[in-house]
Amino acid sequence: MSELQYSIKYIAQILKGKAFLPNPNVCIENLLTDSRTLVSPAKSLFFAFSAKRNGHEFISHAYQNGVRNFVISDENYVEKYEEANFIVVDDVLKALQNIASFHRAQFNLQVVGITGSNGKTIVKEWLYQLLTADFNIVRSPKSFNSQIGVPLSVWQIAEVHSLGIFEAGISTSGEMQALAAVIHPTIGILTNIGEAHAAGFESKRHKLKEKLKLFEEVELFIYAPEYTSTLEISELPGKKKFSWSTKEPADLHIQHIETKKEESYIEASYQGAQISCTIPFTDKAALENAIICWATLLALDYSPAEASIRLDRLTGVNMRLALINGIENCSIIDDSYSADISSLAIALDFLNLQNQHPKRTLILSDLYETGKRTKDLYTEIAALLQQKKVDHLIGIGPDISAFANLFKLEASFYQNTQEFIRNWQALHFNNETILIKGARKFEFERISKLLTLKIHDTVLEINLNALAENLQFYRSKLKPGVKTMAMVKAFSYGSGSFEIANLLQYQKVDYLAVAYADEGIALRRGGISLPIMVMSPEPSAFEALVKYRLEPELYDVNILKSFINFLPDEKAGFKVHIKLDTGMHRLGFGKEELPELINLLLGTEKLKIESIFTHLVASDQAKHDDYTMSQILAFSTAYQEITTRLKYFPLKHVLNTSGITRWQDAQMDMVRIGIGLYGFDNALPANKGLQAVAVLKTTVTQVKNINAGETVGYGRLGNMPKGGSIATVKIGYADGYSRKFGNGVGKMLINGQLVPTIGSICMDMCMLDVTGIKVNIGDEVVVFNHQHTIVDLAEQIDTIPYEILTNVSQRVKRVYFFE
Ligand SMILES: *Cc1c(COP(=O)(O)O)cnc(C)c1O
Repeated sequence: MSELQYSIKYIAQILKGKAFLPNPNVCIENLLTDSRTLVSPAKSLFFAFSAKRNGHEFISHAYQNGVRNFVISDENYVEKYEEANFIVVDDVLKALQNIASFHRAQFNLQVVGITGSNGKTIVKEWLYQLLTADFNIVRSPKSFNSQIGVPLSVWQIAEVHSLGIFEAGISTSGEMQALAAVIHPTIGILTNIGEAHAAGFESKRHKLKEKLKLFEEVELFIYAPEYTSTLEISELPGKKKFSWSTKEPADLHIQHIETKKEESYIEASYQGAQISCTIPFTDKAALENAIICWATLLALDYSPAEASIRLDRLTGVNMRLALINGIENCSIIDDSYSADISSLAIALDFLNLQNQHPKRTLILSDLYETGKRTKDLYTEIAALLQQKKVDHLIGIGPDISAFANLFKLEASFYQNTQEFIRNWQALHFNNETILIKGARKFEFERISKLLTLKIHDTVLEINLNALAENLQFYRSKLKPGVKTMAMVKAFSYGSGSFEIANLLQYQKVDYLAVAYADEGIALRRGGISLPIMVMSPEPSAFEALVKYRLEPELYDVNILKSFINFLPDEKAGFKVHIKLDTGMHRLGFGKEELPELINLLLGTEKLKIESIFTHLVASDQAKHDDYTMSQILAFSTAYQEITTRLKYFPLKHVLNTSGITRWQDAQMDMVRIGIGLYGFDNALPANKGLQAVAVLKTTVTQVKNINAGETVGYGRLGNMPKGGSIATVKIGYADGYSRKFGNGVGKMLINGQLVPTIGSICMDMCMLDVTGIKVNIGDEVVVFNHQHTIVDLAEQIDTIPYEILTNVSQRVKRVYFFE
């Protein structure tokens, strides 16, 4: 059968949209919802969602990048772009879902649909590992399980595929019908139903019923009765059902689980016999996910013996890219897990947004299961590399090597990973960003080990997606046209330097602000081109300010005069910012200094005032609202006084994070967002709506038994009257873990359990009381994360989250994750 082809005209018919098609025969291959993840523009159809941040604004970005086909809801755009094809519909999201569900209906393959509260992505990836020997599988990239992600996933189905595995996630009622129509599963898996995320549903039963709408037409339904107990069995979907349980009789009845050091042995009864398997994981979530996969294999008629062999070979799933320091002043982006074209596009975007090194290198293996002809695939990849500005390609594998002549950039090829490892020294990597991306079987983790610096056991993990979402959370509260200045002082509140700034630049914030010129210089050297405000410009740094195009904040007459005097006479219009003191009483021109300020400004051509601002002292506290109000008023009056004389209007801004949350009417021209980016806002109860960005982790170095009456640590302060056991972990006050956490004040999570410190905190280490808990050398220890939060730590030692975060010392390695 020939490949399916969709002309834009055909798509317009399917969508029943109003069509404006100057080129009706263009053939569409890709559906696009984010103009920044563009692969081949000429064959892409862009869906402009108005609900998303200015979806229609992205049209111009997409157009500039060569996209000529659009689905929109606002007909006004049609006349703005003459040679482009437009389909106008009422609901752009519905249109995306409709075209995907039409596409799905053209194929007659088995499709596994997965939903549930947790584990969807892992179960999907593991089923892929378990079944890939027997099927040509198409699956959701990463955790594409939303109203947008599902249609994009299903659109990938092609003739070559014999099995689809797609996940679906919903957050409120009414969403699942749409996804069911797109996925149209023949086999359904319900992973579990958690207590969490119940917000969009009336009750647990209601949530379950909504999720099960995915499975209304499945032939086979795989589930655990404990999660469906609010429904009668007759209300469950599936002509055939397969149940598993650890608690009650079921088709697969788990009877015994034994966890060893690195694996778990599971016994169960199945069809009247005892069967078993071993999985190379020990944590609770992995066990449940593995049992679901086991049940699925058996339900698909694999023999218990075969299922057991396959489960033993499961490997961990890491869907995140990690940005780590590498050898020879390189940055390494490690993405050695997945290798398909859509995740390649995402990884290349992430590579592209790194500006800290002059050169961008990609190490790429052969790609599989893309449903495209090999030549087309590598042609597309070659175009993608050009578009994403890759400088050097290292291709590993017979397929990519065979198409070497398609790549018009510096390139080297190797038949396999071994050959690369034998020869890599000759490549002399130096001062470059290197993306490592390969299909599972190429074992690129061996390459990443060679190229990365060994990471000290204590690391601060930064989730860049969470940071981007926090930014988005605040932006969604801004009135149109209000600019954002991101505060990245003190190494972005402890979380990084150019790594954070690169992301903020990519997310198009308008300004960055740092405390000292040095921090600004580091950002410029890291390739950051955004305007940067420096809040404490010292006269000794004036020269650097000019050289690196850094914009000083001028806060009193002295500094203003010395900066004017410093600038050479021929210099005109150097950008500066004026800070007014309206009640903070830290830095800033007071009311009485305004006349002199104005005279000085009028007396020079050397300066251009970019912005005038003040800082609120208690924007988060209702009891000080009158005071805040008076600050805002005083600021507005002073701004007016200055600008009437100045005759132009610099940006006007007052709000910090909590100000954005509580003082909507004072957004003015710009807001300055700091701690909110990192997931905290005093004005939001329990930081609702924000995501934790940082996780601080360390490891257990030693475990000891302590006899009754012995003491632990310096000064014999750690008493163990009854004896017990302790774990020594590799974090101390020199890493930023304050001595105040000693003697039981602080707590850490080991294997999911909260345990107290014992004895004093040492410089590089501290001890935890782990009496009665199973702990091994090398176990991971969480100092803070989304469960045991920085807010908890701040309360323990009576400080604020800002201090906990910025205290994490620079010797603790930062690793950045991006999905
Ligand atoms: C640090 C700082 C901010 C950001 O404050 P957050 O409370 O972290 O949002 C804003 N403005 C100025 C002048 C600052 O120094």
